[in-house]
Amino acid sequence: MDLNSKHKIELIEKRIEELKKRLSRCDICPRNCKVNRFDGELGYCGIRDKAVVHCAFLHRGEEPAISGDRGSGTIFFSGCNLKCSYCQNYKFSWKPEGKPLSSKDLAKVMLDLQIKGAININLVTPTHLMPLILEALLTALKEGLKLPIVYNTSGYEKEEIIKGLDGIIDIYLSDMKYLNSTIAEKYSRAANYPLMCIQSLKEMYRQKKLPLWKNGFLSSGLIIRHLVLPGQIEDSKEILSWIEENTPQALLSLMFQYQPYYKAKDFPEINRAIDNEEYSRTSKYAQKLNLKGWVQEFSSNKSMAGPYFEPNIHI
Ligand code: SF4
Repeated sequence: MDLNSKHKIELIEKRIEELKKRLSRCDICPRNCKVNRFDGELGYCGIRDKAVVHCAFLHRGEEPAISGDRGSGTIFFSGCNLKCSYCQNYKFSWKPEGKPLSSKDLAKVMLDLQIKGAININLVTPTHLMPLILEALLTALKEGLKLPIVYNTSGYEKEEIIKGLDGIIDIYLSDMKYLNSTIAEKYSRAANYPLMCIQSLKEMYRQKKLPLWKNGFLSSGLIIRHLVLPGQIEDSKEILSWIEENTPQALLSLMFQYQPYYKAKDFPEINRAIDNEEYSRTSKYAQKLNLKGWVQEFSSNKSMAGPYFEPNIHI
């Protein structure tokens, strides 16, 4: 076993019990539902004490730095602590659609992805399940998992939980959805999203300031994703400026793939794709800043991220 895996095992063993206990009066995310998930009670995320997995596969549609040539070993978890009205994964983020797995079975999923050639393990929407995922990760590490771990989050996090992941997570891939709390409340019922996201991003940046690369792919670092919403260009510009000022060495992934999924129809102003002018104004603004990362090409009828990114361009 390599030193890195040994170190991760020690850290998880030290922190897991305390974190698991919190599920009995759940406060592991900013919703603070205080439900007993071991007793079958449901909070906002809609998941009890087993990780529900919607699907797991080698994903080649993420940013090139984490998809690589062989694919990112992506595990999509069901349920979500944010549940945006326009979520493209609404079929399993709003409902517990998928298979509830024991930590032993989830560890096997991780190890299978490694055997299939994944370049990392990409935990998509892990926030509400982190104690359960860490338990699985502990087993997987003991059984030979060596891949970098990607924490792929909406950004609606508690800083203290992110602090507890120091030394365990290799790559943070976090959204920064809103800086305006009125918009955050309107589309995601989370007026405190901007504050929670800012605090957690600063902690992620403290842990993973400098991107590290191995064989051309990211092995450690922070990627901040921002999905531009129709009619919200001013908030997007503020977000881009915030990133330049506060996390200048993080990698930016600027996305234009928004489509009006699910409950977007309840909000006429976001019930459409981004138009050409919005794309042009936002991407030009980003290009003036001193940031590195990827900007998605304008393509209003395509919904996958990866193939439309330009790798390593200076934007
Ligand atoms: S993880 Fe789920 S139950 Fe726990 S506080 Fe967050 S939304 Fe509520």
